Amino acid sequence: MMKPNMHYADLKDSYLFRRIARKTDAYLERHPGTHLYRLGIGDVTLPLPDAVIRALHEAVEDQADPARFHGYMPECGAPFLRETIAAHYRKRGIGLKDSEVFVSSGASDELGDILDLFDRSCSALVIEPAYPAYVDANVMAGREIIHLPAGPWNGFLPEPCEEAKADILYICSPNNPTGAVFSWEQLGRWVDFANRNGSVILFDAAYEAFIEEDALPRSIFEIEGAETCAIEICSLSKTAGFTGTRLGYTVIPEALVREGMRLHDMWVRNRTTKTNGISYILQKGGAAVFTDEGQAQVRANIRRYKANAQTLMRALDHCGIRYYGGKNAPYIWLQCPDGMGSWAFFDYLLEKIQVVGTPGEGFGSCGEGFFRFSTFGSAEDTEEAARRLEKLLK
Ligand code: PLP
Repeated sequence: MMKPNMHYADLKDSYLFRRIARKTDAYLERHPGTHLYRLGIGDVTLPLPDAVIRALHEAVEDQADPARFHGYMPECGAPFLRETIAAHYRKRGIGLKDSEVFVSSGASDELGDILDLFDRSCSALVIEPAYPAYVDANVMAGREIIHLPAGPWNGFLPEPCEEAKADILYICSPNNPTGAVFSWEQLGRWVDFANRNGSVILFDAAYEAFIEEDALPRSIFEIEGAETCAIEICSLSKTAGFTGTRLGYTVIPEALVREGMRLHDMWVRNRTTKTNGISYILQKGGAAVFTDEGQAQVRANIRRYKANAQTLMRALDHCGIRYYGGKNAPYIWLQCPDGMGSWAFFDYLLEKIQVVGTPGEGFGSCGEGFFRFSTFGSAEDTEEAARRLEKLLK
């Protein structure tokens, strides 16, 4: 009899967003035709930048021309895109080799796949509240998970400590869901901690493009010593609207070595075995993100999401509700009013004002009592949601 991976039985019964979908579907069944103001799932609503669309079209035309046609792409990424991304890092003062950049089909895929580099016996530290995939991917592998709670007492940015000693350290900055961003000094302490203990940091930089304060690090590789202890996982999903198009990249420095094994070389071996590269068309579209025109268009889109953040933050200020994030991240993390639990607050907003957010409890038990708003909705919906929130909670 085939023995299935029984660790799947240890997963929590329902993924956060499925439970939200079930609740909203049930509401719509009871109130057909009602418009819901969806500030829940972190999916973008603005289309891809023009520069990207143009590049995608051109790449499709290439595929129609025998002289310009591309078959299989190199497994670790097209040289033109690896070079473009490495140059983008260099502009920010981070010296990377092109070969240290791996093109991926997105951060989620990569966050799961990268665990192939680690022995099953490795423990994983998850700073909570956290993006749920960190925990679930390690539960599936049967790893020991250390949950390090964060909260208002440390601004949702915990310091390394004895209990945080683990082989794999997940750090997400800007954070989903709290919007908190680690400072240079704080990240420096995590890098020292990882180097001292032989741990590896998996740095999730999916939201780096939302950082507007120059005094905050956008990449772990801005921190001295990170090249010997960190892998950075990035995505064009939130930066450039690629959630449905799928493209990301991962940086693994050649200097990252554990027990004589170079993780960079292991990843080359992994990709060349398990993938046949990312579509030529998508990689051409991705390269357009890094042109001057692409960057200007990306920034314009991010400004529109930031305007949504301002709208929501103003409403929360008027209601006297305490919140975090919003400034350097597309998420606002608020304390549920009157000591309400996060699912109770979810139901309250849905029933009373048809606003859908994400209950904090879904990001780990220390998220209970908190609630996340995404700023990726349309300006109209966000403004109406803010009006309704003010009317209900002021
Ligand atoms: N990492 C974090 C923190 C996220 O919030 C998300 C998506 O919401 C991802 C990774 C996944 O991004 P991608 O669309 O590139 O898979």
